[in-house]
Amino acid sequence: VLLLVEDRSHAYLVEEVRRDFLANVSHELKTPVGGILLLAEAVKGARDDPEAVARFAKRMRKEARRLDHLVTDIVQLSRLQSEDRLSDPVEVDLARVVNEAVDDVRVAAEEKEIDLVIVSDKRCWVWGDRGLLVTAVRNLVVNAVAYSGSGTRVAIRARVAPDGAREVIVTDQGTGIPESELGRIFERFYRVDAARSRSTGGTGLGLSIVKHVCANHGGDVTVWSELGRGSTFTIRLPAPSYGPSETKADTGIPASPSDTDQPKETPVP
Ligand code: ADP
Repeated sequence: VLLLVEDRSHAYLVEEVRRDFLANVSHELKTPVGGILLLAEAVKGARDDPEAVARFAKRMRKEARRLDHLVTDIVQLSRLQSEDRLSDPVEVDLARVVNEAVDDVRVAAEEKEIDLVIVSDKRCWVWGDRGLLVTAVRNLVVNAVAYSGSGTRVAIRARVAPDGAREVIVTDQGTGIPESELGRIFERFYRVDAARSRSTGGTGLGLSIVKHVCANHGGDVTVWSELGRGSTFTIRLPAPSYGPSETKADTGIPASPSDTDQPKETPVP
């Protein structure tokens, strides 16, 4: 008697995640598209009322912008998920990454009178994709500003950790995240407060993108948060295992990061 046993649970899980993702994507896309359709009808019905037309057009622009953000994030996430590793890493200075990411958020921060403080170590560089790293840090800073009240402070630090790993740490004094939600916020489309996320233009994909960018760089992202006190997100990337003058073939790709020595932080599943 020959008994063959095949464990298909992983395949089922992958299929389930894929189905969930597709269902979420279509639901998320339908909302702004439905809004635009309704608003187009409303404009047609109000053609004799210029004020109403202007109001509807403004809302239409908002929905269209949301659609644009969603499509951009979905495409970016799909691309990141299909590549396990970076194909062509270059030398990237994290201080410059931080400056560029923060520049994109300055206007939003000024509107809320949020102080942005940057502290960067010198020669804090990694092998990586500059555009992706800017996106990841920007997503964290956008969230820090979006989920903080006015008059607070957001600190962004790029540093070489004592063990040589490179870290970008974004700290805010905002709403904080309930402990029970910390393990879920990196899931696609997961939001602690969906209404607040939508009103600030969130897509629910920002942290998922951060997680994948870190993974593609051989690193990870962790979070510490306390409700009512604020949050700290830490991107941790491996120290470059070979210098700019050497080629990747000489020494191999960057090593995986060593275990974090910060037990209070929740590793992303
Ligand atoms: P979103 O587009 O909704 O911000 P994200 O994937 O970036 O999506 O974040 C997921 C959820 O995690 C958010 O909806 C929010 O509830 C929570 N979150 C993320 N960053 C912060 C933060 N700095 N402070 C408080 N809550 C946060």
